[in-house]
Amino acid sequence: MLTGRMMDFPLTLTHLVERARTFFGKTEIVSTMPDKTQRRSTYAEFTSRAARLGRALKRLGVGPGDRVATLAFNHQRHLEAYFGIPCIGAVVHTLNLRLHPTELAYIARHAEDVVVLCDEALLPLWDKLKSDVPSVRALVVFRSSEAPLPEGALDYDAIVAAEDDAFDFPAIDENAAAMLCYTSGTTGNPKGVLYSHRSTVLHAIMALAADNLGICGDDVVLPVVPMFHAAAWGLPFASVASGAKMVFNGPHFEPATLLDLMARERVTFAGGVPTIWIGILAALDAEPKRWDLSSMRTMVIGGSAAPPSLIEGFATRHGLEVTHAWGMTETNPLGTLARLKRHLRDASPKEQLYVRASQGYAVAFVEQRHTDDTGKILPWDAQSMGELEVRGPWVAKSYYGDEGKDRFTSDGWFKTGDVVTICPEGYVRITDRSKDVVKSGGEWISSVALENALMSHPAVLEAAVFAARHPKWDERPVAAIVVKPGAKVTEAELAQALEGRFAKYWMPDKYLFVEQIPRTSTGKFLKSRLRELYGDVLV
Ligand code: AMP
Repeated sequence: MLTGRMMDFPLTLTHLVERARTFFGKTEIVSTMPDKTQRRSTYAEFTSRAARLGRALKRLGVGPGDRVATLAFNHQRHLEAYFGIPCIGAVVHTLNLRLHPTELAYIARHAEDVVVLCDEALLPLWDKLKSDVPSVRALVVFRSSEAPLPEGALDYDAIVAAEDDAFDFPAIDENAAAMLCYTSGTTGNPKGVLYSHRSTVLHAIMALAADNLGICGDDVVLPVVPMFHAAAWGLPFASVASGAKMVFNGPHFEPATLLDLMARERVTFAGGVPTIWIGILAALDAEPKRWDLSSMRTMVIGGSAAPPSLIEGFATRHGLEVTHAWGMTETNPLGTLARLKRHLRDASPKEQLYVRASQGYAVAFVEQRHTDDTGKILPWDAQSMGELEVRGPWVAKSYYGDEGKDRFTSDGWFKTGDVVTICPEGYVRITDRSKDVVKSGGEWISSVALENALMSHPAVLEAAVFAARHPKWDERPVAAIVVKPGAKVTEAELAQALEGRFAKYWMPDKYLFVEQIPRTSTGKFLKSRLRELYGDVLV
C-alpha cells in the first residue's frame, strides 16, 4: 500500500471549543431561565467557562474517563458541561430527568458517575436517588435563585469563577470516550451508548452539510430536543463547530413560549419531536398573525414519525419547511433524513409529501439495509418488510457494559429494532417496531415493565400494554387486561397499584378488560393486533 502523506490530526472536541473561542467570541447564546427571563451571553463567555469548569472538575479529582453526570434542562451552563467535561478527557453523562428515580438510580450506578451537575429545580429529584448512587463524590448545583444550597453541595458558578482564564486542554486521543447517553430500557435495563470524540466531531461535520441539516454560522439554532436525549441530536456540537447563535428554552415547552422565543430571537433552525410541533402548529393555526417566523429556514422533526398532515400543515398554511429525520441514541443520533432528491421535485405534491414523510435515506457515511428474521438481506422494493440495520462511524459497535450483544451482527451492523420497507430510491419507511415500547411525547415507555407490574396484581391474569394513538402525545399506553376467573378489579384499583412505582407519564391512559390477548404463533402477545383493534380508543 502506498500510504497517503497527510497529517494524523485528531478529531476532538477541544479543537471545536478552541476554534469557537478564536473565531466566534462575539456570537450570542440566549438561555431562557426558569422565570422565563432571558440570559444573554456570548461564545467568549461560554468557552472561557467551559475551560474553567474543566479545571474545577480536575480540582474535584475528576480524571480521564471518569463520568460526570448532568441532570438539567437546556441552557448555556449545560452547554459548558458538553464541552468542559470531555475536553479534560472525562465523559459527560446526560441523565434523563423524565425517568423514574429508580431507573435513574440504576443508570447513574451503572455509569458510576463521580460528580453530578444538577439544576436547582431538579434537586428534589436528585434527593430521591442520591442514596442509591454511592459513586457520586460531589453535587454541583446550577443555581437559579438565592435559595441556600443543600448541605455539602457546591455552587457551579462559584467553582467556575474561582478558576483562572487559561485555555490549556490536554491532548486527547480522538477515540477517547466523550459522552455517555443511555437508551430507555425496553425488554431489559437501559443501555449505555458511549460516544467518542471522533464520532461526535464527525457527526457534527455531517450536520453542517447542506444536504443534511446545513447548519452554518448564519443560523440561529433552537434545540427544543432536550440535551439529555441523544446529545440534543448533536445540535450543540454542530452549532459550536459553525459559530451559529444558540437559543435555549430551559424548562419551558409550551407552544406560545417557544413561538415567542423563535420570533424574538429570529430563530432559523429548530429541532424537536412531533409532539412539540403538533402543539406549535395548533397555536399557529389559532393565531396565524401573532408570530413572525419569516426567519425560519427549517424545522427538524424526528424521534417519532412526523405525520404527513403535520408536514403539510406547516407548509401550506404557514409556509414553513419541515425536515423529517430518523435516528437513535445508538447512532449519535442522525442516521437517515427525508431529503427530496432533485428529480422528485417534479413529482406531484402528493408524491412529494409521501417522500418527505418517510424516514428518508442514509446520510453520507451511514449505510442502511434491512433483513428478515433469518438475517437474509431484503430487496429495496417498497414491499419487503424487515429490521433496519445500519453501520457507520457514529454508530455504536457495542454498549457500555455487557448488555445487548445480540443487537450487533457478526458482519458489523447494528440492529435498530425498527421494522421497515425500503423503496428502490432508498427511502426508508418505518412500519412497526420489533420492540413494543410506547413512545409518548418523544419519550419511551416500557410496556414490559408496566405489564410485569400489572401482572403482579392478584386479580390480573394477563396484561399487555400497547401504544394507542393520541392527538397530543402521538402515543399513550393502554393496558389490555384479562382478569382471573372469579376475580374482580376496577380501572382505579389497577391505576392505584401502579402509582408511585413509575413516572406519572408512564401510567396507562386506559384499561381495557378483554377475554383474551391475541398471540403470535410462538405464544407472544400480538400487540400489532391490539393496536388494530383498540389503537383508536383515545382519539
Ligand atoms: P431514541 O434512541 O430514544 O432516540 O429512539 C430511537 C427510536 O425512535 C428509533 O429506533 C425509532 O423507533 C424511533 N424514531 C426515531 N426517529 C423516528 C422517525 N423519524 N420516525 C419514526 N420513528 C422514529
